[in-house]
Amino acid sequence: MPAFPRLAAYHALIAHARQTHLLSSAAAVLSWDQETGMPRGGGEHRSQQLSLLATLVHERTTDPRIADWIASCEADSELVASQEHSASLHGFRRDYDRATKLPAALVAELAQHESRAQQVWADARAASDFTRFRPVLERMVELQQARADCLRSASISRWDALAELSEPGMNAAELRSMFATLRPRLVTLRHNLDLEGRRPDDSFVKLEFDEGSQEQCVRAVVAAMGFDFERGRLDRSAHPFCTGSFGDVRLTTRFARDNVLDALGSTMHEGGHGLYEQGLDAAHMGTPLGEAVSLGIHESQSRLWENHVGRSRAFWQWARPVLRQHLGVSVDPFDSDSLFLASNVVQPSLIRVEADELTYDLHVMVRFELEQLLLEGDLAVRDLPTAWNQRYLEYLGVVVPDDRRGCLQDVHWSCGLFGYFPTYTLGNLYAAQFAAAARRSLPDLDSQMARGAFSALREWLRANVHVHGRRFQPEELCRRATGAPLSPEPFLSYLEAKLRAVYGCG
Ligand code: ZN
Repeated sequence: MPAFPRLAAYHALIAHARQTHLLSSAAAVLSWDQETGMPRGGGEHRSQQLSLLATLVHERTTDPRIADWIASCEADSELVASQEHSASLHGFRRDYDRATKLPAALVAELAQHESRAQQVWADARAASDFTRFRPVLERMVELQQARADCLRSASISRWDALAELSEPGMNAAELRSMFATLRPRLVTLRHNLDLEGRRPDDSFVKLEFDEGSQEQCVRAVVAAMGFDFERGRLDRSAHPFCTGSFGDVRLTTRFARDNVLDALGSTMHEGGHGLYEQGLDAAHMGTPLGEAVSLGIHESQSRLWENHVGRSRAFWQWARPVLRQHLGVSVDPFDSDSLFLASNVVQPSLIRVEADELTYDLHVMVRFELEQLLLEGDLAVRDLPTAWNQRYLEYLGVVVPDDRRGCLQDVHWSCGLFGYFPTYTLGNLYAAQFAAAARRSLPDLDSQMARGAFSALREWLRANVHVHGRRFQPEELCRRATGAPLSPEPFLSYLEAKLRAVYGCG
């Protein structure tokens, strides 16, 4: 018997949520399969499968009994007084209110269109032909506008309504002010490196290694990070990603013969996401306390491992012999310091996922600005390539030669992920703040990393971030873990100090 009569409602809520999680996690495996192994001919069938599962999940998440269960729980003062129950209830309330604002027909059409649009996007990208993608993107923008209009009140913008889904508590005005701090400091830093610094030798980057050896190498690195291959796997896909949680976390990565650092960075990045999912508290599976709190916090975990670990001098002291073991004698001319320097070269480029730490957030700004214009109807989809190319010239000083390396490069808009891109920049800022806090707790972190000992860092992240699930809002989680609210300052100080050292600026 439950301790309080109304705990019966709480238990009903949990049991219902767990079953919904089983359904949605089945959809996630099908989505993973679509990107990794599904034959082309399976596309139409798969979009119908995913649409049906999305409809079933939506039916369950809008079940009117949920409202009754939540109301019973909220009326129970003892239950609400428990921090754990209260945080969980807050999550259930938020999810239910959000789900019931969306009509079932829109949810089904979105799921079907997202699955179809991904196929069309992949073909259009391969052919570098935006006109093929244009009609499905036009429909996608209409569907996202409809979705935002269902979710928002009159006082908030469409973009803010969608952003709230990825990053609770964040809005375009705050992001604009964050970018207004970041942009001039990043531009000045780049200018100073050009003026006073020496560009490091990055000839290592151009060496060719077969994909099988690269794969052995990145597997060794994510295993050392503590990614549990008994509860996860690593496969290949066009665009690296991570899906799943707890006992079945799926990472993907990609290899190019002439870019081993890209494979290493991408795999460490997805490995960081994977550690978060493996580090959630399994006792809360399927409920708000067993879910990642936001995409910005999720991205902080990936960027921390990719950049604060994978692009650090200490990491390369350990990783250089690992590379030598798997990649062979071509590594011999490069010592650990030269690999550290090569991994930190700043080079404005066309592709976001390959960007260095300095220019990365400028790529995000381009998408953030264009997406707001698209959603508000101030930019027609047909004009997207031109608007994209103009901004790349202005912000990054690069000429976009074709759509494949321009507005077709990211999968997000075809997947229906609008209001999402700035979480990448938030991830960079949170990562720097978490890394600085972890260093204060672990003063010998560099000597640990230099011998491949990553467990203290991983456990710090687990205890301060992973295990909490959605117990705290992102802002509170950040304050608890680091002692301060989110600020661009730790990121800018870290980057300025590291890159000035890499470029040998006084
Ligand atoms: Zn990521």
